[in-house]
Amino acid sequence: MKAVVVHGPEDYRLEERPIPTAGPGEALLKVEAVGICASDLKCYHGAAKFWGDENRPAWTEPQVIPGHEFTGSIVEIDEEGTRRWGVEVGDRVVAEQIVPCWNCRYCNTGNYHMCQPHDMFGFKRRTPGAMAEYLVLPVEALVHKAPKNLPPHHVAFAEPLSCSLHAVERANIAFDDVVVIAGCGPIGLGMIAGARAKGAKTIVALDALPQKLALATKCGADVVVNIREEDAVQVVKDLTDGYGADVYIEGTGHPSAVAQGLNLLRKLGTFVEYSVFKDPVSVDWSIISDDKELNVLGAHLGHNTWPAALKLIESGVLPLDEICSHQLPLEDFQKGLDLVADSANSVKVSLLP
Ligand SMILES: [Zn+2]
Ligand SMILES: [Zn+2]
Repeated sequence: MKAVVVHGPEDYRLEERPIPTAGPGEALLKVEAVGICASDLKCYHGAAKFWGDENRPAWTEPQVIPGHEFTGSIVEIDEEGTRRWGVEVGDRVVAEQIVPCWNCRYCNTGNYHMCQPHDMFGFKRRTPGAMAEYLVLPVEALVHKAPKNLPPHHVAFAEPLSCSLHAVERANIAFDDVVVIAGCGPIGLGMIAGARAKGAKTIVALDALPQKLALATKCGADVVVNIREEDAVQVVKDLTDGYGADVYIEGTGHPSAVAQGLNLLRKLGTFVEYSVFKDPVSVDWSIISDDKELNVLGAHLGHNTWPAALKLIESGVLPLDEICSHQLPLEDFQKGLDLVADSANSVKVSLLP
């Protein structure tokens, strides 16, 4: 089969690999679509989170097939696998990006998304990813049956959307809340739809690109602010009698969005951080304590949010034809990575192996 193989930073190659074999309890999947994530791009460019530096060990392993946002159809599964996941040959499925060990403190207390070994599809040799024609679902994987009547790249959007919905759940949104979402890429757009589904009073979307803000409106934003043209802090203060927003969810990865959030939140507000930053971020930390007594929360992956993500995709409220901006054959993976880097001209880029 054809597969993209990671040899090192900026060294990804299309290679011929044997079709993997499914062991007892596992399943063989014919991959239909795999999204390229911003994290795939960061890994490609050699970010320390993936390849390590003086402060942290490498997390990703070379010789691995990348790709963790995927859907496909089951071509081989035994009775044990069918019993565990409730799926059979011919079913279309998605699998959660993390393949938990089911043996660590986090897995044993229901927080499988924080699993200590933290094996994710596409980053570890134990869990090869989906930028290939076939992939094996290990027995530890979390597999969900997915709709067959939608384009596969729409279904594969369940992965980023599950992350968006988890960030929204962390925010504990109340009906009367003014919620600000910073960044209208695939993750931010999913957060907007999630905050809408949670019943927030007003959703304010921030971005620097007018085309992203237009998509934000379609996903459910009430107010959009182009941060290059308007002062987001002032807009939010004007909307809230000068108090500030109740909730701020950061999904840009840009350091300036952190200070912006601290400044536009009201006292006792909630800051949810989702992004991964290239470098350490400096802010006035006393805003969190002395000035506003904020709740500052992190969010990572999609803890128990996959069924909701699939339901939201099926409901049709997301403009997925526009969000899924590019579909390319596996051979064009390099072009796909370049398109993800060019975020002014792409939203979600997918490969169709
Ligand atoms: Zn992803
Ligand atoms: Zn674990």
